[in-house]
Amino acid sequence: MANLEVRAICVFCGASTGSDPLYARAARELGTLMATQGITLVYGGGNAGIMGTIANAALKAGGEVIGVIPDYLVEREHGHREVTRLDIVDSMHERKRRMFDLSDGFLSLPGGVGTLEETFEVITWKQLGMHAKPIVILNTKGYWTKLDEMIEATIEHEFAAPPTRELYSLADTPKEALDRLRAMGTSAAPSSSARL
Ligand code: AMP
Repeated sequence: MANLEVRAICVFCGASTGSDPLYARAARELGTLMATQGITLVYGGGNAGIMGTIANAALKAGGEVIGVIPDYLVEREHGHREVTRLDIVDSMHERKRRMFDLSDGFLSLPGGVGTLEETFEVITWKQLGMHAKPIVILNTKGYWTKLDEMIEATIEHEFAAPPTRELYSLADTPKEALDRLRAMGTSAAPSSSARL
């Protein structure tokens, strides 16, 4: 299968920096790599935590960065005023829809419940055949291993089918994450004509 041409990636990640500087380091590395590879960063539009770290790294390396943020979160999440484009929307739903439409694939970095929610939404949309975009989870320092194990448990207990595993892929490093995202391409074709 030919590699997917990835022009824009939506990155889901924490509005906090987390307990280990490794999380921010991986975010910086990823932002820089995306910029040097000419890949647009689509993200939640904040200038705090891992979100701010990746956006600033991509901008510093000359990359294009599109932030999408609901109006009522501009203050709270420090809406980033130096990004290439900041789309201010009316709701969380519109934010996720806009980020989805702008992106060729999804990459999740360490984060909290917001990151979990965003990641699971694109995984479940894919399971329902609503899209076939690649989803990669950057498992820095094993942060997401428990999530992967939980999904394994859903298969083991027969609440999910084995192909659920193929809806996403785990990567250990930012470079591996980008390589995987390209290689995954649109391998899981939509199984129904469901619409977002
Ligand atoms: P967190 O991982 O909790 O630090 O949150 C990361 C980002 O996810 C923040 O920008 C949150 O505003 C965002 N977020 C949290 N819940 C949702 C939701 N239901 N839909 C869209 N974004 C969300």
